[in-house]
Amino acid sequence: MFKDLYSPLHQLQHPTRTQIQVKRDDLIDPYVSGNKWRKLKYILETAKSLHKNHLVTFGGAYSNHLVATAAVCAKAGLKSTAFVRGESVHNEMLLLCRLFGMELIFTGRESYKNKALLFEQHFGALENTYFVDEGGASPEAVTGCAEIIAELPDDTEHLFCAAGTGTTAAGLLKGIQERKLKTLLHVIPVLKGGDFIADEILKHTGSTEQLVLHTEYHFGGYAKTNPALIEFIKRFIKEEGMLIDPVYTSKMFFALDDLLSKNYFAKNSKIIALHTGGLLGILGMKDKLL
Ligand SMILES: *Cc1c(COP(=O)(O)O)cnc(C)c1O
Repeated sequence: MFKDLYSPLHQLQHPTRTQIQVKRDDLIDPYVSGNKWRKLKYILETAKSLHKNHLVTFGGAYSNHLVATAAVCAKAGLKSTAFVRGESVHNEMLLLCRLFGMELIFTGRESYKNKALLFEQHFGALENTYFVDEGGASPEAVTGCAEIIAELPDDTEHLFCAAGTGTTAAGLLKGIQERKLKTLLHVIPVLKGGDFIADEILKHTGSTEQLVLHTEYHFGGYAKTNPALIEFIKRFIKEEGMLIDPVYTSKMFFALDDLLSKNYFAKNSKIIALHTGGLLGILGMKDKLL
């Protein structure tokens, strides 16, 4: 799958951003987009090597991970099921999940908390099912994300990414360390109180020396926006001809613009921003973006 992986480096074109190149993981696939493919790649391999033909996973009703898992399973000829947090709803994301053949089990917020128990109760007796944690969090996901580093120039000075759980960031830092690069990894948590990301990364890397956390660009928390961010999204898309999503990548690019305007970087330093995809997130905020 994706043997001809398409993730080029594109330079931004607005005069204030010409220092920035974007690693276009959003172009890998419209549905298995960005870091979700990186995270699922080795999960899929492990599942196959264990002769599992049914992936069972977890997420909210607007989860990029659910759509990605549904699409990947359809391509790979596997069955997929998701426990969806909260009461039964319909939206564009879940429509795509269903079209890709995913079975959805809506689960109250209380019982959703114990994922292992849910899996055991519904699928424990079935040998062919494979548990995939929310967002794909796993050592396999870290390995998959570390591979991104090998696709970037070795002399990259600053690499930026947005973080939810921090698994992607952990993989990137691991890749930087494995290749003994001098690159600094700048992480923009999209949740409030993003300091926990450092601990998450430490679990997988053993050192956070080359990590810079920018915890002040969460805009109130996960999937929260304000008029300044909405205005930024519209302006950026127009100026660059590149879509960004309101939950993750817009907060990263906002941070980059802000740091550039404060002359944070030395002149001519090489900056790469990882576009982690997630563009379907626009559908979850269409009323705000209209
Ligand atoms: C899921 C997602 C992330 C967050 O990845 P983590 O590994 O949980 O930090 C970032 N960007 C996009 C577009 C995503 O869909």
